[in-house]
Amino acid sequence: MPDLLASYVAGNWYTAPDEGAVVLDAATGDAVARVSTTDLDTRAMVDHARRVGGPALRRLTFQERAAALRELATALDANKAAYHELSLATGATRRDSTGDIDGGIGTTFVFSSRAKRELPDGYLLADGDVEPIGKGGAFVGQHVYTSLPGVALQVNAFNFPVWGMLEKLAPAVLAGVPTIVKPATQTAYLTAAVMRDIIASGALPEGAVQFVCGGAGDLLDHLGGEDVIAFTGSASTAAVLRGNAAVTTRAARFNAETDSLNCSILGPDAVAGTPEFDLYVKEIVREITTKAGQRCTCIRRALVPASVVDDVIAGVSARLDKVVVGNPRNDTVTMGALVSLHQRNEVRNAVAALQRAAKVVYGDPTSVELVDADAEHGAFMAPVLLLCADNERSEPNEVEAFGPVTTLIPYSAPDDVGVLAARGRGSLVGSIVSYDPDFVGAMVSSAAPHHGRLLILDRDCAAESTGHGTPMPQLVHGGPGRAGGGEELGGMRAVRHFLQRTALQGSPAVIARLVGGS
Ligand code: NAP
Repeated sequence: MPDLLASYVAGNWYTAPDEGAVVLDAATGDAVARVSTTDLDTRAMVDHARRVGGPALRRLTFQERAAALRELATALDANKAAYHELSLATGATRRDSTGDIDGGIGTTFVFSSRAKRELPDGYLLADGDVEPIGKGGAFVGQHVYTSLPGVALQVNAFNFPVWGMLEKLAPAVLAGVPTIVKPATQTAYLTAAVMRDIIASGALPEGAVQFVCGGAGDLLDHLGGEDVIAFTGSASTAAVLRGNAAVTTRAARFNAETDSLNCSILGPDAVAGTPEFDLYVKEIVREITTKAGQRCTCIRRALVPASVVDDVIAGVSARLDKVVVGNPRNDTVTMGALVSLHQRNEVRNAVAALQRAAKVVYGDPTSVELVDADAEHGAFMAPVLLLCADNERSEPNEVEAFGPVTTLIPYSAPDDVGVLAARGRGSLVGSIVSYDPDFVGAMVSSAAPHHGRLLILDRDCAAESTGHGTPMPQLVHGGPGRAGGGEELGGMRAVRHFLQRTALQGSPAVIARLVGGS
């Protein structure tokens, strides 16, 4: 029997008294860990965060918190080889894990250095200029941000067990707000390994971070108006949490990143033979094979001119033919497993729902050729390309197959594309692949209000492009509508999610003394 993972509660590691649930290796089906939060004292966690972690963090200035983050990222960076080994059990290839592990640690470094440059060496953050209010100049206003006195509860999805934690922890630490990390049970063993190193590093004061390894229990019952809930996962779980009295009655802040039917638009100018056509095909294949398509930002809807549909199918198919699916421990493998057999069933069901409106033009959702693995024990699936010839059908705009799956949707007139893109009802990211400035301009005007981020990909930026699916700490990660309506990343604005904005009013001298000393 594998070890039962511990939670970190009020300064101690807590192991539940029961056997817990066994979590399996995504590729082999072997038992990796056991997880349980039975009898976890969630009230003690929230109390400890409020009484110990928060005050300790808030004794540090913004600059001191930035230095603590750097120390933390440096400690994790030294141990990342171990995380990479463990990550193979999630089904991710070594390359996939880079985005999660190195991406998470890199994000922490970015937050630290941005804070060093942009935040004061104090406890108060001025927002904007002094507002003159009194006619004689003796009475002014000034907005300031201060640390919330509560706790940040982060509830994360299974697909980014490291990045998902660190991208939320870093801004909370900078804000001086203690965090309780609750990873998805399925990949909690990887988050647990990083968490043990975070605690051992001593980079953060005691109580600044605690860890729930398993179900969240009644944690939300202890949260209220001083607290922040930062959720990443499915829209249905977001709806449950958003309906909790912690949010509806006690007004805890709630930020959600949920599922998203992201689109990528091929411009009419980008016919076969152009650099943009090749970039488009490459990007589609990269998106659906990276992490076996289990990224919230993955391209789910590929909007292409009807006249080039066959060329796109041919180009994508030729590249997908080269994809090697199997056990990520084998170095020849280029696409690993889905996170669990349960998740594979979910994806197959979603593909079946899409097939009501679309036909499979590449791959077989029920069978796959494998290297060093078998499809009975490992959650493998072939990449699948669908074509929805009738672009009026709703299914591709409603059904999320959270796996190596995308649907081609043809358009006839450029004027229709904005409408098609908007049918995702709000997405994390969209991309426009075109070298025609008029088309790009029209697309940005119509698509931007429906997206948190838009990538405009062409021959000029391709060499340095970070790609459609990769969120950057400097830029917004989040999106309207179906994407949850939240905004996790986006430079130092992310820190403000954990701060309270207050309008100070008083004499210019008092305001200057307060803000100047910030
Ligand atoms: P999920 O089932 O919604 O679970 C997400 C998290 O919520 C997990 O930690 C889960 O814990 C927890 N949870 C579930 N029910 C809860 C409850 N009643 N109270 C408190 N916590 C609860 O999502 P998932 O299956 O892990 O992730 C896949 C989905 O997430 C996809 O739809 C994907 O699009 C979306 N996603 C979005 C983003 C983004 O940034 N927008 C990123 C990644 C994934 P347990 O695991 O312990 O049940």
